[in-house]
Amino acid sequence: MGTKIMKGLLKYIKPYGFYMLLTLCLKFIAALMDLLIPSVLARIIDEIVPLRDIRLIFTWGGVMILCAIVSVTTNVTANRMAEVSAGGMTRSIRHDLFSRITYLGAGQLDDFTIPSVVSRLTSDTYNVNRMLSRMQRIGVRGPILLIGGIVITMTMDPKLTLVLVASLPFILLIVAVITGKSVKIYERQQSVLDDMVRVIRENITGVRVIRALSKTGYERERFDRVNETLAETERRAGSVSAASNPATTLVLNLGLTMVILVGALLVQKGESGPGTIIAFLSYFTIILNAMLGITRIFIMFSKGLASAKRITEVLEAPEDMEILPYEEENGKNPSSGEEYHVEFRNVSFSYLHRKNNLTNISFSLKKGEVLGIIGPTGSGKSTIVNLLLRFYDAGEGEILINGRDIRTIPLTDLRQKFGVVFQNDYLMAESIEKNIDYFRGLSGKEIGKAAEMALAKEFISGKEGEMGADVAVRGNNLSGGQKQRIMIARALAGEPEILILDDASSALDYRTDALFRKALGEHFPDTTILMIAQRISSLQGADHILLLEDGECIGYGTHEELLAGSKFYRQIYDLQMGGGLTQ
Ligand code: ADP
Ligand code: MG
Repeated sequence: MGTKIMKGLLKYIKPYGFYMLLTLCLKFIAALMDLLIPSVLARIIDEIVPLRDIRLIFTWGGVMILCAIVSVTTNVTANRMAEVSAGGMTRSIRHDLFSRITYLGAGQLDDFTIPSVVSRLTSDTYNVNRMLSRMQRIGVRGPILLIGGIVITMTMDPKLTLVLVASLPFILLIVAVITGKSVKIYERQQSVLDDMVRVIRENITGVRVIRALSKTGYERERFDRVNETLAETERRAGSVSAASNPATTLVLNLGLTMVILVGALLVQKGESGPGTIIAFLSYFTIILNAMLGITRIFIMFSKGLASAKRITEVLEAPEDMEILPYEEENGKNPSSGEEYHVEFRNVSFSYLHRKNNLTNISFSLKKGEVLGIIGPTGSGKSTIVNLLLRFYDAGEGEILINGRDIRTIPLTDLRQKFGVVFQNDYLMAESIEKNIDYFRGLSGKEIGKAAEMALAKEFISGKEGEMGADVAVRGNNLSGGQKQRIMIARALAGEPEILILDDASSALDYRTDALFRKALGEHFPDTTILMIAQRISSLQGADHILLLEDGECIGYGTHEELLAGSKFYRQIYDLQMGGGLTQ
């Protein structure tokens, strides 16, 4: 998977190329200084001290201090620079990811799932950030210290280097075992964490139902179970990492002991100086730490790469809403329903490409006409809206607006024609005014008028701050009917060509509902309206009513026609009018 992902990342790395090169140069200097210090020390002990020249000792001591200062300052500067560039790159990645997500087709979003998209935006970009910064911080330093250390020790004393080389396999073994284990445990921990987040989400969003059904005890048990599993994996991860430090320290100390033992023999035989032995001890530690650093980079890298893969999956998701070419002349065929504003022709659709969620739906609306859609839950009412707005493409059949196939209309142009209140829609945690305006830069007058049409004016003026009053997250400080009225105002405010109201008046009382429909008829005579409702009384006045069941049209006509012609419609009507079925 590596190369393609790296290619994707390269685009973000490039703008920081020079900056990163500078960082790596500083890192290089710092590493050289670190490598220099022990050999200067060896030189002082073995060659300068026997000369008994205080001035020379001070000079070389000064060189050591200088090396140390240069090492620290370059290292700190380079680390900061690494964080700056990694932060900048991550910001661009997050920016692109977010904007791609906002253009994902509804079907693609269904496939990714929302929680997964959220975690790609948050924890995956974090992992990539860690990878980018660590690579710069240790990626260059580690290998230089490792290779440089081995080369210097070889030139200083090949025999002692053998001790070092002999202990490397043990260290490698420990590192390999621990790394393998911890990567596995890490993966498991991630998935248990996902489970836990899911339980928390379900619990918090469903908290009222859970309380109402007195299931809090059960829910707590369910949470305790995932919590226990998570704690268990954390314990296991802990016990692995608990062994790792002492084990490597043990090998390090054994190695150091061996260096001292062998070194003592060499010094006794006059083949080496005590300074060399001391320098060796330093190099040994440097080399070992470099190795540990490099393995950590590998873990970081594999985690970061896995995350980068999840990010590129979203970034490179294909455009799924292709805009078909539109030919003005050829587009007009004799049967083209140009006199119609909105038209469905034999439309069938399935979300999961198994069973049809809509089958052979047709209707045609002239400008200004109202279509009422009614049917049991799950019968496909909202799906009609999803297709008309082109959140999904119809499987078969055609959807036309002004006689033009909607697949030939650019998405922004298409959606600009609509004012929509979705079923289960949200408000933003902003002022009422901003909720109605919704970033369209409407004037106060337009907003006020929309609020008036939606019969929201009255309760808004009762609020402290009126139009400027704050709406809480998800509109929790408003009643269901108040929320619906603000959403209706939002849909009306753009003076849309086509208005879609999906269960938009379900929380309004009958009187307000009737007043609202009257206002619609009076003030929006040219607006074509699709109105989905549960109550026949809301649809009674519509020009056409579409009766749906299981995605199929089982009745189409005016209220009177359906009353006369559809037994099913008649039954709903009787039930809602309080007559019941036994009549
Ligand atoms: P209604 O609005 O009439 O209550 P919908 O149009 O929302 O019904 O749904 C019609 C059918 O399509 C239902 O069976 C529902 O389960 C299914 N459905 C709706 N949305 C999706 C989706 N995103 N993925 C898969 N199936 C879906
Ligand atoms: Mg619905």
